[in-house]
Amino acid sequence: MKYALLERGDSLSHQLSEQFHHLAKERGFIIDKDSPELVISIGGDGTLLQAFHRYEPLLDKVAFVGVHTGHLGFYADWKKDEIDTLLDLMHTSEPQLVQYPLLDIVVTCDEGTTHFVALNEFNLKSVNGTLVAALHINDEPFEVFRGDGIVISTPTGSTAYNKSLGGAVIHPSLEALQIAEIASINNRVYRTLGSSVILPKHHHCDIVTQPTDLLHISVDHLVMQMTGVNSITCSVSDRKVTFARYRPFPFWNRVREAFIGSPKQ
Ligand code: NAP
Repeated sequence: MKYALLERGDSLSHQLSEQFHHLAKERGFIIDKDSPELVISIGGDGTLLQAFHRYEPLLDKVAFVGVHTGHLGFYADWKKDEIDTLLDLMHTSEPQLVQYPLLDIVVTCDEGTTHFVALNEFNLKSVNGTLVAALHINDEPFEVFRGDGIVISTPTGSTAYNKSLGGAVIHPSLEALQIAEIASINNRVYRTLGSSVILPKHHHCDIVTQPTDLLHISVDHLVMQMTGVNSITCSVSDRKVTFARYRPFPFWNRVREAFIGSPKQ
């Protein structure tokens, strides 16, 4: 088994990664940063986002496993004291490979297009104040948004920024994207739907901005500023991310444990 490991950089994550390498070597696993079969992330969901973007070109070949060194993660579901168990299972059993939908983002400028893929979400704001953007769904004008910004998330990203905005939590077996508003201006002059919108795989949305606007764009943890943007198209990607599951941990149990806590007896 060839693997690569990324860790958050804090002392506990570093210590656990040393432990992982030691136990992996004993079991005959080989470190291969360039073409791993398995990518191990030790830290939190943020660390897994970094691992995802590092290995995004190899998505059809790699599976991810996340170990958390803080609170329970949505992508990082192994605890810090379970490294031995994880290595034993990796050595003795075949994982269940589960695949989750991703978001495709195409930014169109006069000079051409830039393509991104997100595991959590795409977020658009204006650097210089209120974002004004026309939203089209399947090439039909839908609304003109005025406000702080727009977040378009994947099902697994629905528990992240999207949830803070009051968006719905979506099971990752549903191939969908969700559009959520950040503080839209709604009065007798300006009007948007107000609630989040969920699009199925075969739909797409375009966000049309003024090319003169300086835009703040983030794709997961990656942040950039762009100007000269004519439109941004979002759709459910044809590609998927694969996670190696060595034991079951149903999505709704993660949601309950992360946001509600264990059920009372
Ligand atoms: P960060 O600001 O250091 O961490 C954001 C938090 O979101 C962390 O607690 C992280 O968990 C958690 N998180 C990430 N993905 C998640 C998911 N799919 N479900 C539930 N929680 C999740 O930023 P970062 O570590 O670079 O992560 C970037 C992410 O931050 C973005 O993708 C966005 O979703 C999120 N974010 C949220 C808000 C908000 O809720 N108001 C605002 C901006 C960005 P860990 O502690 O396990 O890493």
